[in-house]
Amino acid sequence: MRCPFCRHGANRVIDSRLSADGTAIRRRRVCAGCKRRFTTYERVEEITPMVIKKDGRREPYDRLKLIAGLKKACEKRPVSMELIEQVADRIEAAVLERGGKEVPSSFIGGAVMKELHEIDQVAYVRFASVYRSFKDLEEFMHELEDLIGSRRKQEQPRTTVQRKDKDGGSAA
Ligand SMILES: [Zn+2]
Repeated sequence: MRCPFCRHGANRVIDSRLSADGTAIRRRRVCAGCKRRFTTYERVEEITPMVIKKDGRREPYDRLKLIAGLKKACEKRPVSMELIEQVADRIEAAVLERGGKEVPSSFIGGAVMKELHEIDQVAYVRFASVYRSFKDLEEFMHELEDLIGSRRKQEQPRTTVQRKDKDGGSAA
């Protein structure tokens, strides 16, 4: 990467961030020769890691998917789109900072949980209930109690117990 002004070969990165649409990373660089600054862009598929799913499959990191998940968790909650975008930015920054070509989905999930926990407890529980796929209702309720319990019922999510009755049992 040569300086566009003096053609010097060495430079230092002073800032890195994803572009607003999440498809490129923008780096501000300062030339080691003339000290002038310039900007480079890298396409996101070259710099974002592959996400390792629980079952071992890999898929490209997808910002839109992350935002969709956040939006779903924050549905009808007092959380602005702006804040959701900021959360996505912070999570991406954490992923980039972590480095490596692959990142476990649990790393991203954990980062989302941490963020939502700060922002909105109902959103947190919604996300957690899906993400952690609580083994049973008791575990889920326990989590709910911890988070919302003492705060008197502000939109306590309704949970329905679904009984799986084994019927049709008249086997031959
Ligand atoms: Zn230069």
